[in-house]
Formats: sequence, structure tokens, C-alpha cells
Amino acid sequence: MTARNIIRPQINFKTPVDNSANTPFVPQLKYKPHSIKPLAILPEYDEIGNIESYLHPYEFELSNFTPNQWQLTKGSATKPKELSETPLMYVDKEGDLNVMLKELEQAKEIAIDVEHHSYRTFQGITCLLQLSTRTKDYIVDTLALREELHILNEVTANPKIVKVFHGADSDVEWLQRDLSIYIVNMFDTHQASKRLGFARLSLAFLLKHYCQIDADKSLQLADWRMRPLPTELIAYAQQDTHHLLYIYDLLRNELITKANGKTNLLLNVYKASTDICMKRYTKVTIKPDSHMDMYRKSKRIFDNRQFYALKELFKWRDTVARTEDESYAYVLPNHMMLQIAENLPREMQGILACCNPIPPLVRQHLHVLHRFILQAREQPLTKVRSIK
Ligand code: AMP
Ligand code: MN
Ligand code: ZN
Repeated sequence: MTARNIIRPQINFKTPVDNSANTPFVPQLKYKPHSIKPLAILPEYDEIGNIESYLHPYEFELSNFTPNQWQLTKGSATKPKELSETPLMYVDKEGDLNVMLKELEQAKEIAIDVEHHSYRTFQGITCLLQLSTRTKDYIVDTLALREELHILNEVTANPKIVKVFHGADSDVEWLQRDLSIYIVNMFDTHQASKRLGFARLSLAFLLKHYCQIDADKSLQLADWRMRPLPTELIAYAQQDTHHLLYIYDLLRNELITKANGKTNLLLNVYKASTDICMKRYTKVTIKPDSHMDMYRKSKRIFDNRQFYALKELFKWRDTVARTEDESYAYVLPNHMMLQIAENLPREMQGILACCNPIPPLVRQHLHVLHRFILQAREQPLTKVRSIK
């Protein structure tokens, strides 16, 4: 499936992204449904008095959360209808969002998943939100409704509604960063799988184990920015939440069985899931020696000239990625950067020869890169080959 005619969604964002390295991520939440403590975006300071981060807007509610009694008892497992027989609502307009919210407010349990794009963006872009109730699936265009979706906190932050995710660690960060959506009362099926000691902890395993479904995860890395979304991608996205409440039913019962009828394992899953909900998104920052981590992993041995080049390339890549709103992988992949630093090509052509395919921004900034390499080559060679 090719990603033809994809416009950069970020050019239509009402609030532009802030890629600056010296400012922390600021939560954008403007009102706080189901608050016990009123909304406050509170800064945390570092040793020299600069704002380092902001507290989680729902920290108090999450710290005080305990699962409802009805979540802690065995129940019958409710198998969903076939995908083809289940109503699917595609939500990309505010009117439909309001209809969806009204329906979701009636549910006791909701399954949720997120699709994300990370290549042609610096911080990442949440592209799709999938939700399933017992009777209906929803696919939400989070590019079209980016500024409006915070109203979903009416259900996502509602402690009376269980939100079932599979492996929510990233989802929680993406939702708060792009949509100001926060989760209170989460059951993470990945956390449950861990406590049941399953051989594999993937959703694919659970689908096979409990639903006899061979999930095709080959579309996982599709370009989720595509619009209109091809039908295959819609079906794939729908499948990611469609069976999840049924899986949750079975996992919950199994956790109680494994604990000989007690709730300790189940409570353990809720505790771990709540810890995930408390995660805060932070922007990537680089330090003067950040290039060294990559160097160590590469298992190469550099002299001081090569280090000089690597450090300059690393800094250049970070700046360009932020200003152009592109990923490091798009600007200059690690292996190419290491190759350039190792070879220290005398000619510009030699830099291009280290890259296949040649990243567009490398071609565009070739003179700058070449200057770094010449400067590196002019450094007096120190004899000792150190790894520092
Ligand atoms: P999933 O929860 O499997 O639907 O994955 C959610 C998002 O995570 C996808 O839309 C991808 O952007 C990202 N993702 C999942 N698996 C991988 C992977 N193996 N490598 C990179 N990104 C991934
Ligand atoms: Mn997911
Ligand atoms: Zn998914």
C-alpha cells in the first residue's frame, strides 16, 4: 500500500507544534471532567529555577483511584458479533463526535487503541483513535478532530467506566500530547498477560489464544496519515479494538482463578495500568554527549577526528529535525551518520556515497555537512584511541 498524495497534516493544525529543545511540553487541557482536584497545570523546577516539566493534570485522581467492586468479580464473557455484522461509525466531524460521546457515556467498558505516525514529524502525530463498546466500533480521525477530542475526557477520565487497552505505554503519551486525553480506570491486557505468565505478550497472541484469529499485523506500520483511509486500513484498525472487551472478560476471570478466587492479581493489573496512566509525555532533548550512546551501540572505534564529525552531525540533525518537523530517521538515519563520521569523505560526493538512498535534507544541506567534515579532518590527531 503506497502512501501517495499525503499532505503533511501538521500544516493544518490550529495550534502549531512546539519542537523547541529548551521548553518542556505544556499540557493543553482547558477543562477537567471528573475532577476531584480542580484543573491546574503546575510547573516543576530544576535546580537553577527553570521550569523542567508540568505535573500530570489527573495525578491526584489517579493516585486516589480504586477499581469499582463490580470490576473485581468474575462474570460471563461476552463474545462480540462478527466484524462485518458490527456497526462501525467513522467520526471525523464534530456532530458525529458528540453523538459518539453520548453513546460511549452509556457504556461500562470501552476498548481503546491508537494509531500513530512518527517518520515525517519530529515529535510524532496521533492519526487515529479506535474505540469499541459491546455493540459498536468507532474510528475517529484524530487529524480532523485534533482540537475537539479533549471532550472525550468525559468518558476516558470517568472512574466509573473501564478503559481496556493493550500495551498502553505509548498510547497514554500520544493521547495527552496531541489530544489532551487522559485515562482514569484502565485495564491493560498486556499487563494482565504478564501476570498470567503467557508465552507471548502481544495482542496477536491474545487474539489467537482466545478468539482463534490469525491477526495480520503487517499493516501496523502503514502510513496512518492517509486520507481517505483505505478500507483495508479501516478494517485493520477496527480489528485492534473489536475483540478487546471479550479478551478483557476472559483475562479478568482467569486472573481471579489464578489467585484462587482472590483479587490480588487483578488489583495488581489495575495498579500497573494506573501507573501507565500517570506517565507524562516529555520532549526529546539531546545533551552534549548524546552522540556517544549511539557510538557505543555501533561497536565502532573512532579517533578524535571522527568523534568531532559525529558530534557535529548529531547536533546538525537535531536542529534540522526540529525546524523542519521531521524525524531523525528521515533527516539522517544513524547508520548513515556513523558511516559519514567514520569515512570523513574529502569530497561532497563522498558524503552522498555513504547514503543510500540519499536523504533529501542531506542533499539540501550538503555544503554545511561538508564543512563539518573538513573541520574534523583539520583536527590534530591525538594518538590515543579512546572511547570517551
Ligand atoms: P498498535 O498498538 O499495534 O496498533 O500500534 C500502534 C502504533 O504504534 C502504530 O500505529 C505504529 O505507529 C506504532 N508501532 C507499533 N509497532 C511498531 C513497531 N514494531 N515499530 C515501530 N512502530 C510501531
Ligand atoms: Mn496499541
Ligand atoms: Zn492499533
